[in-house]
Amino acid sequence: MAAMPTAPARPLIKSLTLEEVSACLQALGQPAFRPKQLMQWIYGKRVKSFAEMSDLPAALREQLAGEFAFSGLEPIRTLGSRDTTFKYLFRLDDGALIESVLIPASPALYGEASDRRTICISTQVGCAYGCKFCASGLDGWSRNLQPGEIVDQVLRVEELSGEKINNIVFMGMGEPLANFENLMKAITIINAPWGIGLGARHITISTSGLAPQIKQLADRPLQVRLAISLHGATDEVRQQIMPVNRKYPLAVLLEACAYYTQRKKQWLTFEYILIEGVNDRVEDARALVRVAREVKAKVNCIPYNKVEGLEWKRPSETRQDAFMAILEAARIPATIRREKGDDIAAACGQLRRQTLPVEAVR
Ligand code: SAH
Ligand code: SF4
Repeated sequence: MAAMPTAPARPLIKSLTLEEVSACLQALGQPAFRPKQLMQWIYGKRVKSFAEMSDLPAALREQLAGEFAFSGLEPIRTLGSRDTTFKYLFRLDDGALIESVLIPASPALYGEASDRRTICISTQVGCAYGCKFCASGLDGWSRNLQPGEIVDQVLRVEELSGEKINNIVFMGMGEPLANFENLMKAITIINAPWGIGLGARHITISTSGLAPQIKQLADRPLQVRLAISLHGATDEVRQQIMPVNRKYPLAVLLEACAYYTQRKKQWLTFEYILIEGVNDRVEDARALVRVAREVKAKVNCIPYNKVEGLEWKRPSETRQDAFMAILEAARIPATIRREKGDDIAAACGQLRRQTLPVEAVR
């Protein structure tokens, strides 16, 4: 029997910003050019250990290796889907498992044709919000990901796939805004010229509607995009499928959304899963038109993806089309996302905290 995994003893070097690396290296008496040199090895040359940083003094490499862990993710398994989506399963230092999904071409993700290579990233192990239609919340929440564990998903998927990622969506396992400071730090590193260097406009955060954190995000300088998982345009419908609506009812959420669009001068996206008989009726579409107008939001409809053990159903295409027609007639910018990765359980809402016997994943 293998030993039980233990929690990481040392912080991850990829959790540090340039400022923090500078402070650390300065304390070790290193010259001023050292921090950028170190970042260049990690994010430019993409080495896998301190030992490979050949123009750093050997003593410093050893010191750093003693103080910091280099990688927090170990790739366990890759699943390829018929439609070219890939799902990567990673093991964290404490043995927890998370998933990231690579969507090589995503023409329908935001409505426009594109050749974007999108990665869908997890921010927590499990999720505490328990939306009734989602696999990620089924087994509850166990912990927040560290900034370095978030950043490393991008590096690892680029390494394993050989693809350069040019679009990131925080739509994997977990509620990103419930891990706010770690998420902000990870985005800083992903966005920075000394880090991964991906433009903030190519980064989308998706939230189930944590109103206070939406406002907090609005007050930060980063121009990331924001998607709200709305799924119901009245309290009655939303409450039925999203427990978070009790804490932040629709009026409170919409007020935070309006604050966000005003501060950022940016359109929001409302994600709206279509679930048969729950939120896909004519009156639901009309209610959605009203709220989308109120806060200037685009709507992205997603036909429900089957989750094992849950009884919800995807509406027929005829019903989906009828719903879309109401949005279109009201001139609400709206798209419908026909899913990718459904056959490997990598589509939206199908990512689930996995537990495998230790032997099975060695
Ligand atoms: N916790 C965040 C981000 C992760 S979920 C959030 O809820 O926004 C990413 C998206 O997948 C959300 O819009 C979520 O509502 C959606 N989703 C969850 N379960 C789904 C399912 N079974 N079918 C389709 N989309 C689903
Ligand atoms: Fe959590 Fe988002 Fe799934 Fe809701 S939809 S349970 S917030 S991951």
